[in-house]
Amino acid sequence: MEFKLTKKEPVTDEAIINEIKSVMNKLGKKQITIKEFDANASINSSTVTRRYGKWNDALIIAGAELSNTFYSDEELLSNIKDAWLKKGIQPTRRDMDNKDYSAISSGTYLRRFGTWYKALDCFVSYIAENKDGDSFELEVTNDFTNRTAIKHKTKRDPSDRLKVQVLMRDGNKCRICGAVCSGGLHNIHFDHIIPWSKGGETVLENLQVLCSACNEAKGNM
Ligand SMILES: [Zn+2]
Repeated sequence: MEFKLTKKEPVTDEAIINEIKSVMNKLGKKQITIKEFDANASINSSTVTRRYGKWNDALIIAGAELSNTFYSDEELLSNIKDAWLKKGIQPTRRDMDNKDYSAISSGTYLRRFGTWYKALDCFVSYIAENKDGDSFELEVTNDFTNRTAIKHKTKRDPSDRLKVQVLMRDGNKCRICGAVCSGGLHNIHFDHIIPWSKGGETVLENLQVLCSACNEAKGNM
């Protein structure tokens, strides 16, 4: 007697993509959910996700129009910067679903970066880059009438990127009295330790988080 094995032929990539397309056609939709696929297709959605990892990735290959707007990495990371400034401390994944903090939902970050932690990891490199012109070369000037004036290498106001660097180091706590500046950006002051008027530069080492009260008290000294 001869044994015969029945071997199931693997579904080809082409067959999977065609199946997604045909279900989209059948339902007249430009985007379909896993549920809709399983209710209408001859193959199971798990076959699709095993092959392509993420459902949306398979949809994109099949030419689906996803409702999610496409954001560049720059846009996604810049939005974390805004959320960090608004909250004063590291935003959580849930914060990204809070419209007060973030214009882009956490799901978009998870799709792009895999995990929220990985998104934050990219953000740390992003924020360390100096793209906002916080420092520039000192201008050589021959203007002798101006020789007593202080020449700064930096702009007076820190960029958002630099503000986040200060927040990453100090948290949202006042470096003088220790109060938590919980009212968002309104209560936080980015103070020049050596005052700008005395030649202090706008660099991380010369900036600190102060609450409104301490900032005002320092200003009156
Ligand atoms: Zn204070």
